[in-house]
Amino acid sequence: MLLGTKKTFVKKTAIVLGLMLAFAALSTSGFCKSETGFSIIVLPDTQKYSESFPQIFDIQTNWIANQAGDQNIVFVMHLGDIVQDWNDESQWQNASKSIGVLDGNVPNSVLPGNHDMSSKEETEKFNQYFGLERYKDSEWFGGSYPEGTNDNSYQFFSAGGKDYITISLKFCPDENAVRWANSILQSNLDKKAIVATHGYLGYNGERHIHNRNDNACGSEKENTQYIWDEIIYPNENIFLVLSGHVHGAARRTDPNIAGTDVYQILSDYQSEKNGGNGWLRIMEFLPGENRIRVKTFSPYLNEFKSDSRNEFFLGECLKKSECREEELCCEGKCTKAKCIADADCQSGQICLNSGECNSTCYENIKEKELEIQSFKTFSLIAAISIIIFGIVLVIFGKQIIDQGKS
Ligand SMILES: [Zn+2]
Repeated sequence: MLLGTKKTFVKKTAIVLGLMLAFAALSTSGFCKSETGFSIIVLPDTQKYSESFPQIFDIQTNWIANQAGDQNIVFVMHLGDIVQDWNDESQWQNASKSIGVLDGNVPNSVLPGNHDMSSKEETEKFNQYFGLERYKDSEWFGGSYPEGTNDNSYQFFSAGGKDYITISLKFCPDENAVRWANSILQSNLDKKAIVATHGYLGYNGERHIHNRNDNACGSEKENTQYIWDEIIYPNENIFLVLSGHVHGAARRTDPNIAGTDVYQILSDYQSEKNGGNGWLRIMEFLPGENRIRVKTFSPYLNEFKSDSRNEFFLGECLKKSECREEELCCEGKCTKAKCIADADCQSGQICLNSGECNSTCYENIKEKELEIQSFKTFSLIAAISIIIFGIVLVIFGKQIIDQGKS
């Protein structure tokens, strides 16, 4: 009996020690991350699905609801132009049915695009189907403006250890909506903010949109610069701005008042076949990393778009392949390379890994690069050795016990 207890003790000790060593090795090699990844889904202009392809809209929202658990989808943002014709009842009914799949399943927001309003910017139909009644009792719903409508609204979610606020603004928000958005953002400075509005970026990433039926957007016709100047730039908690309306995909990054990067993104696929072929955006907030992977997926086609306008990273880069072709990944940022090899630099200069030509401390820089390289190699070898040692210890412990038995 005593012998048996001793054997068990040796066996358990060996296993625990082995597991501890393996865990320590994994920790030092950076595999252990405490943050959990999550995704938000962006639904660009669905107007043509509501008009002619309601089954594609259904496929989109059913896919989101089905994937919500596996992909940890915490929020869905619609970018407006829910319907093609603001006064067509059947289109609103189609849209309401499709988005209804998300109700009670995945927190989500909508906003009126230009097609969702009359030429006088009346939003009665939008509010009839997607008004306060639909959202006000959801625990994640923050509030809306003007009172009694859902023209502009805000919501909350928490994920990956951080708190977020999402603000959805009607097409070309007027000065009252701008003032309201600022007050909401200022009262939620402890949260990271995402802003969605229907029209903001043009196809080349400019803050100028088109096709607005002669109505003015902001002080100048079709000019959306005021949205940046009056809402995005001064509110340092905004890191992401999403828009649709202009056919295609574009993006730009600019520093806000605090010097922090703000990612501004356009996506709208309505000009493709079948009213947009079901393309939607998956924004994956990667665990333990300060970046977002953006993918464009169609649950209707079961395909991804892989061109650089539609698949990219926001935030820090880890390797060159995450940057545009002419760029290098340098200290977490994609930057234009000034050199690729020493031959690209003037004589006496070397080309650093960062893509910069440098002539100061020639020997030291080379040595430092070598030092970093060898430290990385050493850490890797050490981590692997510790894992192997742990495994050997487990096997060895088991053998001792087996020998004791025989
Ligand atoms: Zn539009």
